[in-house]
Parts: sequence; structure tokens; C-alpha cells
Amino acid sequence: MINLSRSVSAGAPIISEIERRSGQQISACYQCGRCTSTCAGSFAFDYSPHRLMRLLQFGMVEEVLRSRTAQLCLDCMTCSLRCPMSIDVAAVIDTAKAIADEMGFKDTERDLRLFRRGFLKNVRRHGRLHEAGLLSWFNIRTRKFTNDLSLVPLLMRKKKIHVVPPRIRNKHEMRRIFREINGAGKPR
Ligand code: SF4
Ligand code: SF4
Repeated sequence: MINLSRSVSAGAPIISEIERRSGQQISACYQCGRCTSTCAGSFAFDYSPHRLMRLLQFGMVEEVLRSRTAQLCLDCMTCSLRCPMSIDVAAVIDTAKAIADEMGFKDTERDLRLFRRGFLKNVRRHGRLHEAGLLSWFNIRTRKFTNDLSLVPLLMRKKKIHVVPPRIRNKHEMRRIFREINGAGKPR
């Protein structure tokens, strides 16, 4: 077990730790770029998925741990499904993010990840998105109490947002779907 409080200049042990936790072999990547060509989020990243893999191969851990890529990756796993070497790229990125958190790297995209968590909680509870519930949950959590409130009357007039949450028909089925999704993500 490596000491994660060590300097990030100790790149090799951290890369081994990423490999150990994610169960992936970073050296197996041969830079075909397929992961990047299918990634819906890469336009917002500083390093595309295949470049991030290359950084790890070169031992440039600090760039990876500080990257917007680690912060913004959607964890959609498209890259993992398309990799001809069956590398779970999403797991590598997710693990790098977890290690960055443990080492105290600044979380620059906290609001975005909070929104994602709130979105999923909301769908799990209501069966589909209850926009008004998500808006109020997010504004309270971020303490931006009036954020986007000016849009609410217009959205309500156009019936794009509803005060009363939708009724979920089969709560057990929705919980089962979320359980399966969470299970599929293990051991990340
Ligand atoms: S698809 Fe796989 S092999 Fe190709 S660049 Fe991405 S991680 Fe490397
Ligand atoms: S898991 Fe992340 S890196 Fe992979 S395709 Fe989705 S957004 Fe892109």
C-alpha cells in the first residue's frame, strides 16, 4: 500500500495504485484514439482520454490528478466499451479522481458533480426528473438561493417545470435499476 500523502513526484507508486484499484493495465494502451473519438465529454476536457492514458504511461501523474478531465468525466463508460484492448478507461479516470480527492487536490468542479448527484437522486425518487425539486435541492446545497429562479415563471407557462412531482408507478423496479447500475460500477 503506498502512502498517498507523499509528493506526487513519486509518480510510479501512484500509477501502480491506479492500476491496482481500477484493475487495468495502463501500459496496454497503444494510443489508437478510439476512446477519444467516442467521448461525449472530451470537448470540455484539458486532456482527451487517450492523452490522459499517455500521460500516465509517461509517469506524469500530477497533470492527471489536477486535470479537468478527472473532474469532468461523465463516467458514461463509452470509452471503456469501445477500447480494442478492453481497457476500462472510465475506471482509470474515476480512480485517478478518487486518489486526487484523497491527496487533497482542489475540487474545481464541485457544483457540477453535485448537480449530477442531485439529478440521479431525483430520478431515483420520482421515476423521472422533477425539475423544480432538483432546482431547489441544488440551490440550497450550493447556497445560491436565487439561481435561475427568474426562469421559473416562463418554464411553468410552457409546462416545462411542475411544482408537483411526477408519480412513480413502480418504485421497486426503479430501485432495482439503480441497484444494478451501481453494481455494474463495482469495484470502482
Ligand atoms: S481506445 Fe484503448 S487502446 Fe485506444 S487509445 Fe484509448 S485506451 Fe488506448
Ligand atoms: S467515461 Fe468519461 S472519458 Fe469515457 S467516454 Fe465517458 S466522459 Fe469520456
